[in-house]
Parts: sequence; structure tokens; C-alpha cells
Amino acid sequence: MKGVINMHIIVLIKQVPDSREYVRIREDGTLDRERVRAVINDCDKNALEAALQLKEKFGSKITVVSMGPPKAEDALKEALAMGADEAILISDRRLRGSDTLATSYVLYKAIERLGHYDLIICGIESSDGGTAQVGPELAEFLGIPQATFVDEFKVIGGYVEAKRLVEGGYEKLRIKMPVLLTIMKNANNPRVTTFSGILKAVKKQVVTWTIDDVGAEEKKVGLAGSPTKIMKVEKLSFQRKRLMIEGETADEVVDNLLKRLVEDGVIRGGY
Ligand SMILES: Cc1cc2nc3c(=O)[nH]c(=O)nc-3n(C[C@H](O)[C@H](O)[C@H](O)COP(=O)(O)OP(=O)(O)OC[C@H]3O[C@@H](n4cnc5c(N)ncnc54)[C@H](O)[C@@H]3O)c2cc1C
Repeated sequence: MKGVINMHIIVLIKQVPDSREYVRIREDGTLDRERVRAVINDCDKNALEAALQLKEKFGSKITVVSMGPPKAEDALKEALAMGADEAILISDRRLRGSDTLATSYVLYKAIERLGHYDLIICGIESSDGGTAQVGPELAEFLGIPQATFVDEFKVIGGYVEAKRLVEGGYEKLRIKMPVLLTIMKNANNPRVTTFSGILKAVKKQVVTWTIDDVGAEEKKVGLAGSPTKIMKVEKLSFQRKRLMIEGETADEVVDNLLKRLVEDGVIRGGY
């Protein structure tokens, strides 16, 4: 089996609010991100882990790229501590309000500036926006092939062989590099950051670029460049019913629970 030696792998990292914390929704419908702890988006850690495993096997260079506010630097520093080699943050006040199209456009311009790459890996979706659009849109901008919902892949002689989830099963693809993959959460177990990793990362810098640095047009970013407008954001409130479902046996309890769910209109009857 022959792989590609010394690949340049780009991993996309989005900093998101920690889902274990309460995130307030402001009057204008935007998330109050400042007050919550921010972390690396879950499946972006899987994307980075996949890249690190390739680096161990083939000796690759990993560049992590993020678009976000200045505090997204923390997410990139964590990625450096996990083993990434270089980190780029595209941060600019003019990016405020960017939707997925504007985000993908800016990431595309940044990647163009980075020059040669063999593989781009990102998560399938973010835990806050969750559109799963950024990966596919970025591949379109770059004009390269893509495989989404990948839960397993390997690099063999300039090609990626990927197993991706489709409705009712899996699809196996063989794609010539460069290629963009969106990685699922069950693809691997991301490594934990070690103390020595943190020490090594201290010496590495996060490079910050503005939209001028990447040559992005102002009219294509921020609110002006975003065709998606949020019409309404609703807060859902849940109230526990404090109901005890009873029965003599486990089967009877399950039966009574199903009956109750049908009565309440949660599921349809006829089971
Ligand atoms: C109208 C509108 C206004 C918005 N305004 C703001 C705002 O003011 N501030 C703000 O922070 N967000 C804002 N957002 C959200 C932000 O632009 C989206 O999070 C972004 O477009 C990515 O979409 P997503 O979260 O659905 O990513 P998905 O498509 O679900 O993400 C898939 C993968 O793409 C990669 N990815 C996604 N986003 C980034 C990123 N920024 N950098 C690097 N990799 C990434 C990650 O690997 C991720 O796992 C806005 C969204 C909309 C629709």
C-alpha cells in the first residue's frame, strides 16, 4: 500500500458555545456568545484526529483554519496543542453576520492564499449553526471533489478511499486528491491534549488574517454578502409532566408508556 508522503492537510475548526452551558438568545435573535465558554466544535476534533493519524503515518503538515472572532484563537491554540503545525484565524469586524455562503467564501479565499494542499477535512456540522453546508460549499468554491458524512477513509497513492453514510447503508468512494471530506463524530476518538503538547504549542503562533489579507471582496462577506436572513428565533421551553408510568411487568410498563405517548400525540398509534 502506497500513500502520499508529506501531504499538506487543512483542517477546518469552528469555535462554538459549549453545549453543556446555557446560551442566551438576544432580542435580535442572535446568540449571546460572549458569556458562554467556547470550545472546538465536536466533530472538528474528529477531523483533526483523522489528520493527525495521517501525519503519523505519512509525515504530513497540518494547517488548522478558522473564521471567527479574536477569541477563536483559543480553539486554534488547542488544535496546535493536539498536534497541528500551523494555525490561521480569519478575523475581521466586517465578517459579522456572515452566513454559510459568506463563511465558505472567506475560507476559500484563505485556502487559496495558503497555496498547495492535498486534503481538506472538516466536521459534518457545527453544534450551533448546524447547517452542514460549509464543507460542500467550500469544495464548490475550490472546484474540488468532496465526500460528505465520511466515517472511515484511507489515503492510497494519491487517492482517498472513503466510506460514507447514505440512507439505508454505506457508499464506498475512491476519489483523486485534492479532495474535501466532512467527517462524522463516530469516525475516531480524538486524543486528549497532553502537557507536552501544550508546551510545544506555546512556541507556535496563530496567524491572524483580515479579509484584505485573503483578498476577499467586502460586498461578499458579512450581512451584505449573506443571502440568509434570520426571520425569527423561538425559544422552546419544556416542562416536566412528572408522570409515573406503571405496570406489573417491564412489557406492561412499555405498553402503557406507548399508549400514553399516542394519547399525548407524541407518536402515532397502530404499533
Ligand atoms: C444570517 C446569519 C448571520 C450570522 N451571524 C453570525 C455572527 O454574527 N457571528 C457568528 O459567529 N456567527 C454568525 N452566524 C453563524 C455562522 O456564520 C455560521 O456558523 C457559519 O456560516 C457556519 O455555518 P454552520 O454553523 O451551519 O456550519 P456547518 O456547515 O454546520 O459546519 C460544518 C463544518 O464546517 C466547518 N466550519 C463551519 N464554520 C466554520 C468557521 N467559521 N471556520 C472554520 N470552519 C468552519 C467546521 O469544520 C464545521 O464542522 C450567522 C449565520 C447566519 C445564517
